[in-house]
Amino acid sequence: MALSKDRLGRFNPDKHMEGRVTDIGPRHYWQFFPPVIQNNYGKWAYHEILEPGVLVHVSETGDKAFTVRCGGMRFMTVDFVRELCDIADRFSDGYVRFTTRNNIEFIVDSLEKVEALKAELAKHTFAIGGSLKFPVGGTGAGVTNIVHTQGFIHCHTAAVDASSMVKALMDGLFEHFTSMDLPAQVRVSMACCLNMCGAVHCSDIALLGYHRKPPAIDHEVLHKICEIPLAIASCPTAAISPAKTEDGLKTVKLKVERCMFCGNCYTMCPALPLADGQGDCVVMMAGGKVSNRISMPTFSKVVIPYLPNNHPLFPEVVEATKQVLNAYAADARKYERIGDWAQRIGWEKFFEKCNLPFTEHLIDDYRLAYDTYRTSTQFKYTEAAWAVTRAAEGEE
Ligand code: SF4
Ligand code: SF4
Repeated sequence: MALSKDRLGRFNPDKHMEGRVTDIGPRHYWQFFPPVIQNNYGKWAYHEILEPGVLVHVSETGDKAFTVRCGGMRFMTVDFVRELCDIADRFSDGYVRFTTRNNIEFIVDSLEKVEALKAELAKHTFAIGGSLKFPVGGTGAGVTNIVHTQGFIHCHTAAVDASSMVKALMDGLFEHFTSMDLPAQVRVSMACCLNMCGAVHCSDIALLGYHRKPPAIDHEVLHKICEIPLAIASCPTAAISPAKTEDGLKTVKLKVERCMFCGNCYTMCPALPLADGQGDCVVMMAGGKVSNRISMPTFSKVVIPYLPNNHPLFPEVVEATKQVLNAYAADARKYERIGDWAQRIGWEKFFEKCNLPFTEHLIDDYRLAYDTYRTSTQFKYTEAAWAVTRAAEGEE
């Protein structure tokens, strides 16, 4: 396929609109596929994991595509990307892809190329600390890379720093990244505030940055910069209403008991900051998943309401995560995800086995839970349901 400059022409200063196409979007995905994928598109028969970090997809034609998966990170320097592109040029014909969990995948068409690639990847280490730049793993019944949000680097409502927590966590869980020693896969996610841009609502183990104090109100600044109706409208719980200071300045007041510390108002008005060194903390949730395999998708539940926001190594968060993971590894059956295990033994036992205190704050009172119980392709065919199916098919 031609490059976009050939397809779209060059800019003509005399005729500004000539050949002009806006909103063109990304280039067609087909041109990024390695030949083995193009040749076998739609013909894949099955796939297997050969060893931690190495997969093979086998086509009806007999062709095989081997994938070598390495842990990456959400923020990569240009130098790092150049380095991985150089490896791809030399060992996988220039093809490389990224997964949504920040894994880097090289695809090759023979086992010999897999071995050569692995040997090369093992040579790349960081100058400081000497750790692997491209650790191979993250497949099957282990811990794959953490999906996470932006944190302070990008977002203003963060309660915790995402990148440092994820680095500390993956260092602590690394042995499960390079092996497949758990009963089933464990998806760990992390979001830095309760807006949850990460998949924390449906992960085996999820860490959530949480503000515990309502926004402060800077009355001196607010009336100069805030579009007050917008700040009021932004609050999902109607906690904000208009007010006046003693000096007659236009401002807002808060019904603190209604605030759920989401930070939406701060998005609209910088005079309503809610980050707080002592108040902000980390919450752990567990037992969620997206997959339909074996059991239906489930939401994660809160299992630890407070862990200290201890930058940059978050030792309490790392320890608590290991505690849950170790209890699961020791007690769950093969193929059981963390939520499946908790459902089978009962959530009371989950807290007991993980050595976590249970308080009334952990009782699941999500008001829409009832409506979502059957939002799934997992469906129990009761006699009544069969009767409806038979009637629809004209049998009765
Ligand atoms: S989870 Fe919250 S703080 Fe983190 S990127 Fe999303 S909105 Fe921003
Ligand atoms: S933090 Fe959220 S709930 Fe609290 S006042 Fe602001 S918008 Fe409302």
